[in-house]
Amino acid sequence: MVMIFEQLETHGCEEIAFFHDKETGLKSIIAIHDTTLGPAWGGTRLWDYGSEEEALIDALRLSRGMTYKASISGLDVGGGKAVIMAKPEQKTEALLRAHGRCVETFKGRFLTGEDVGIGVEDVEIMRKETEHVAGTKGVGDPSPFTAHGVICGMRACAKDVYGSTSLSGLKVSIQGVGHVGYNLARELHEDGAELIVTDIREELTKRVSQEFGAQVVPPEEIYAVDCDIFAPCALGAIINDETIPQLKCKIVAGGANNQLKENHHGRLLYEKGIRYAPDYVINAGGLIVIYMESRHSPLDETMKEIEQIEERIGKIISMSKEYHKPTYEIAHQLADERIVNKRKEQVASREA
Ligand code: NAD
Repeated sequence: MVMIFEQLETHGCEEIAFFHDKETGLKSIIAIHDTTLGPAWGGTRLWDYGSEEEALIDALRLSRGMTYKASISGLDVGGGKAVIMAKPEQKTEALLRAHGRCVETFKGRFLTGEDVGIGVEDVEIMRKETEHVAGTKGVGDPSPFTAHGVICGMRACAKDVYGSTSLSGLKVSIQGVGHVGYNLARELHEDGAELIVTDIREELTKRVSQEFGAQVVPPEEIYAVDCDIFAPCALGAIINDETIPQLKCKIVAGGANNQLKENHHGRLLYEKGIRYAPDYVINAGGLIVIYMESRHSPLDETMKEIEQIEERIGKIISMSKEYHKPTYEIAHQLADERIVNKRKEQVASREA
């Protein structure tokens, strides 16, 4: 049995809400992880979860990742996430609108957008019920920006390992060539990298193979391919006890959220001499573009902000070497520091 408060405590989460809509059968969970820096932002994921526990843990872990992502990226927003427990064919306008009404109950304390299983067109449907959705009006799909941020983070890793930020001639394996993975493959191809890709959807790997000359391997073979960089761009928890021994790469840098199954897997990568670009640092491009758009910033400023990811990953790698700590620990430390300082300010102003 899942102990709800125990889970909230373990994940450091402020609030969790469960929703059920009788008419559509909607079952959704919204996790508000931390609002110290501002209202909680996080996409909505639609997934056919194996159990309620799996959905709950996913919401908690993803919302925590959003808090860290916003904090380390210097944004004044907190972290949250919504998950809808449904099969793709259950995604109807009525179900999405019902979820939009759930989002509306937070009156702006939670703002949502797209994620796995939820596209920009679905977010537009939710908008009929709530204005607290983002990332659809101006730039549209945020995934090209996420992919561009991943490229910037890869450059910092390449500089450390190979002495140059150039990705030309490097072999990069990509797990998942959906929204982020496809755009990543496009930019890598333009930069002269060699690609090895996989996806459970054959039509997507075929497209990447035709457009960018990528070699295609079956999903289970992606971990063991001979490459310089492994870019996870599908689902989370893929860096684990089974996959780490298979990895031949020197760098793990990709767009997926929650790549480490458990924190100690970040240490195992470190001990194996693999540079791991912490997921929420390297994949922040999509969040940054939505944030900058909400502040009406011009695109060139937004791009500069996204390109800061290179410096940020570089700093984390340097600190990892200086303090002999895995990169994920350094990233947590930096993300926590900003929140703890803000909380101290808030306490001081309450007491004043
Ligand atoms: P997507 O659904 O468009 O792409 C994911 C792809 O992974 C799909 O093509 C799917 O078929 C494939 N896939 C699923 N399981 C697989 C497996 N076992 N092996 C190989 N391929 C598999 O989603 P997306 O928007 O590209 O997001 C990908 C990841 O990046 C997710 O973890 C998401 O949370 C994260 N992310 C996305 C953004 C964004 O801007 N879209 C921003 C930050 C983080």
